[in-house]
This record gives sequence, C-alpha cells and structure tokens, in this order.
Amino acid sequence: MVEILCPHCEEEIALDDDASGEFVCPHCERKFEWNTEPFAEAFANEQADDKILGMTRNQWALGCALLGLLAGALSVSMFIGAINDISSDLTNMSLDGVLTTIASACFIVLPIGTILIWFAYTAWSPRSYSDE
Ligand SMILES: [Zn+2]
Repeated sequence: MVEILCPHCEEEIALDDDASGEFVCPHCERKFEWNTEPFAEAFANEQADDKILGMTRNQWALGCALLGLLAGALSVSMFIGAINDISSDLTNMSLDGVLTTIASACFIVLPIGTILIWFAYTAWSPRSYSDE
C-alpha cells in the first residue's frame, strides 16, 4: 500500500502500490489521477521514436502541407490561365486542350492538394512543435 495526499482536501488516501488511473477521494469525493502519465508527455514519447525515412511526422506533415498548398495554387493558376486562353486567343487554341487543362486542374491537381493538406492536418502533432 502507498499513502498519498488528496490533491483537493489533502487528506491521506491509501492506494495499492501499483494503482494507477482515476480515483475518487473517500474524504471529499472529488476525482484525482494517480500514477498516470500526462497525456501530452505520453504522446510526445510516442512521437519521439516515430520517424519515417529519417524525418519526424511533423516534418512530413509540414512538407505535405506545403506541397498541398503548392498544388492548390497550381490548380488555381492552371484554371485562370485556361480561362484567359479562352477569352483572349480561342482561334489559335484547341478548345479540347483548354478543357483538358481545366479538368486536370479541378479533378487531379486540386484533389491532390486537398489530400496532402488533409494528410498534413491529421499527421501533425502540436507537441513536437517545441522540440527543436
Ligand atoms: Zn479529498
């Protein structure tokens, strides 16, 4: 058994040596945690070993976010470029080519950008932010 002090009322509470988790103080009936790793710390420990091809998850996430933004910008500029081609110089342009550009901007480049940003969003762990 181990004797601890309730963090709320500072009365003594007896717990098993290997007790951990959330408990209710028998004196004040308020909850407290004992022997639990703080969530952020547990998460950081997990993240520390979590390197993929020598890069941390956050570095991958950051890279994906940048690529995603780049793809987004590219799709917009492809789209605007195609619209400009239509309005300025349709006689010399094949309409098929313009439509292909617009279609690939909307259905290929933009979704890739969205997926990359989504991946970055889910992979990002805020804790390791302050590591380096
Ligand atoms: Zn208490």
